[in-house]
Amino acid sequence: MNRLTGVREIMKDIIRALRSDPSKQWLNLSPGNPLVLPETDAMWREYALDIVHSKEFSELVGRYGMTQGFDPFIDAIVETYNKLYNWGIKRENVLITAGTQPLYFLAANTFAGPDALTGVNRQIAIPMVPDYTGYDGVVLDEKMVVGFKPRMEILGDHEFKYRIDFDAIDIGSHTAAILCSRPCNPTGNIFTSDEMHRLLDYSKQWDIPLIIDSAYAPPFPNLAFVPMELFYNEHVLHCVSLSKAGLPGERVGYAIGHERYIEALEPFYSNMGIHSSRFGQAMVAKAMLSGRLADISERVIKGFYKRKIEIFREALHKHMPSHINWYLHRCEGTLFSWLWVDTEQMNDLEIYQKLKGGGLLCVPGSTFFPGLRSEYAHKNQCLRFSMTAPDEHLDLAAQVVAKELNGHTNKR
Ligand code: PLP
Repeated sequence: MNRLTGVREIMKDIIRALRSDPSKQWLNLSPGNPLVLPETDAMWREYALDIVHSKEFSELVGRYGMTQGFDPFIDAIVETYNKLYNWGIKRENVLITAGTQPLYFLAANTFAGPDALTGVNRQIAIPMVPDYTGYDGVVLDEKMVVGFKPRMEILGDHEFKYRIDFDAIDIGSHTAAILCSRPCNPTGNIFTSDEMHRLLDYSKQWDIPLIIDSAYAPPFPNLAFVPMELFYNEHVLHCVSLSKAGLPGERVGYAIGHERYIEALEPFYSNMGIHSSRFGQAMVAKAMLSGRLADISERVIKGFYKRKIEIFREALHKHMPSHINWYLHRCEGTLFSWLWVDTEQMNDLEIYQKLKGGGLLCVPGSTFFPGLRSEYAHKNQCLRFSMTAPDEHLDLAAQVVAKELNGHTNKR
């Protein structure tokens, strides 16, 4: 068995497996890539065609624009958030980027690092891991990201939930910013309003940004299956991605935050990427202002993945042998299922290899603990399954999990 370490090696291993035998029918529950849904596809095509046939096309693609973003898109964001949430934002509170991944890189390297006065290396704090694996690589020095273990609550025979362990997290003068995804990739967890208020208190106390990665939050793509309150104030950097609303290839994301944060990030982004695709921004502006993006998110995208998560959950309940100690994280959002197999007989990488042998691809959970440096057995007991596979594959996948774990793991 080859030694796999970080998420990049895992991704390469998955691609190697998929290419090794192109005729093989894999059960591929590994991608973070959303599916192309007919309704979203039709919407984006329609707006793309409108733009191609409009007078603005030549100007849009034939000339550079402003780093902050395409004016009509910035206006659409201001109008939408003030109308929906009454945030009172202005144009100065918005920065458009090529997807949100660059935002985390920009923010981490703008806010973290040696403090000019004290020389202390200020870090990005992830208040609870597991969290998005992409936070691991956003800093040039890995010690600048620190993640904290969660508390765990068993909710039923086969269900559990993480909570922030406020006794364990260490946020203070050495913290440059707090960063979290809400809803969370990979677990589907949504921090409660109470947890958010406590994080907001830290950001106020230490005058640091609370960077909320809203890649799955309302109003788009709205992959939240329980009611969730959005938070905005002078310390929040609210980051939104259009990727899970069907536009990952066009690379459109944005941050909403206090102008002191936007002013710090914008010149850095100018050096890094000049600006995001203006064609994509123009498409999203139209979809946002017409109300169609919010409508499709609520009516189509949310239900599509929620149903698949339920199919997978039911299939595990049907197929898993009773002697295995398994739990799914309560799925409150996203397009993933997070499985915890409470065993020390095999670790997540070994389980990953076993499942791969059975024709099933998923992502080992240990890749989702950015910044966690202390020993933690639970880190090696989880797997992420993506709900982007056909329905019948979800049932077959649960059968492979049940078969491959059977005989290898027992209740303690
Ligand atoms: N944040 C989270 C939680 C994600 O799951 C992803 C992508 O899967 C991203 C950020 C990056 O998204 P993008 O750069 O496409 O906006």
